[in-house]
Amino acid sequence: MICLGIESTAHTFGIGIVEDGEILANEKDMFVPEKGGINPLDAKNHHEKVKQKVLEDALAKARITKKDIDLVAYAAGPGLPPCLKVGALFAKELGKNKKVIEVNHAVAHIEIGRHVCGILDPIVVYVSGGNTQIIGYAAGRYRVFGETQDIPIGNAIDVFIRETYGKDKKAETFGGPILERLATGKYLELPYVVKGMDLSFTGITTAAINKFRKGEKIEDLCFSFQETCFAMLTEVTERALAHTGKKDVLLVGGVAASKAFRQMIEVMCDERGAKAFTVPPELAGDQGAMIAWNGVLAHINGQKGTRKADFNPLWRVDQVDVKWM
Ligand code: AMP
Ligand code: MG
Repeated sequence: MICLGIESTAHTFGIGIVEDGEILANEKDMFVPEKGGINPLDAKNHHEKVKQKVLEDALAKARITKKDIDLVAYAAGPGLPPCLKVGALFAKELGKNKKVIEVNHAVAHIEIGRHVCGILDPIVVYVSGGNTQIIGYAAGRYRVFGETQDIPIGNAIDVFIRETYGKDKKAETFGGPILERLATGKYLELPYVVKGMDLSFTGITTAAINKFRKGEKIEDLCFSFQETCFAMLTEVTERALAHTGKKDVLLVGGVAASKAFRQMIEVMCDERGAKAFTVPPELAGDQGAMIAWNGVLAHINGQKGTRKADFNPLWRVDQVDVKWM
């Protein structure tokens, strides 16, 4: 069974090809704005421009042709509506005479993580440019134990870097790796906002940008920014472990690439006899292989196909029946 998966929910257009459980190809092209956040229409235009090339690269890498594809899966939400539409229509086009399956982007992040890390029932820390949620499986669905009340952690990092260090430079990459590289200074106090199990990142982002404008050193701010945000996330993750009695933590999403964050989570897990896993970097951020793999799981477990090219920008992870657990 060969499944082609399409990812287009936000900044990345990706195509993954999976045969049963094996990833044959995982090609992508990422849209990086020059300043501020992502303008959905710019991202959509980017996806339109690159989709054919990404498809051709993926087919070549997998050494297959369109005819060999049995199943087409696409990320139908959550995400930016114009971007979602590009993927949905492309799936419809590629899936003529084939079964087309809708996949939830957040669930796909979890499933590829469980698959490659070989774990059954973790607390998932989903930290990316578009999402921040602490998730665990209970009674048929992935439940959200805690989440951001405003912007996602990855977005906070990217805005902070773009408005400070990156201000006069053309951004060639996300803020995350730059933040990590510059985080060599001393600790300055920044707002630490955890409300019950939920988190907020706008206050800290504004405060850090203001401190930069007042002349504080970027190395100190980067160190303090990451220490504070990651400590907030680690606190909520620990409470989710305590509450559920689960023994594994799985980090997914692009921010899981942060060594500092992984270390903080690992120390917390060690202290309570739990184990931390991180999805390998090439599968941690947005890409099509996770959509393809989730498509296979859904298909095997009886999910019906669709011809509608529907999408739902607000489709939450806890609205999906997880039949394959
Ligand atoms: P995603 O939305 O899952 O594709 O992940 C992209 C996000 O991950 C962006 O906001 C990046 O800034 C962030 N990111 C990537 N690498 C790192 C890193 N080393 N440390 C922190 N954040 C990172
Ligand atoms: Mg994502």
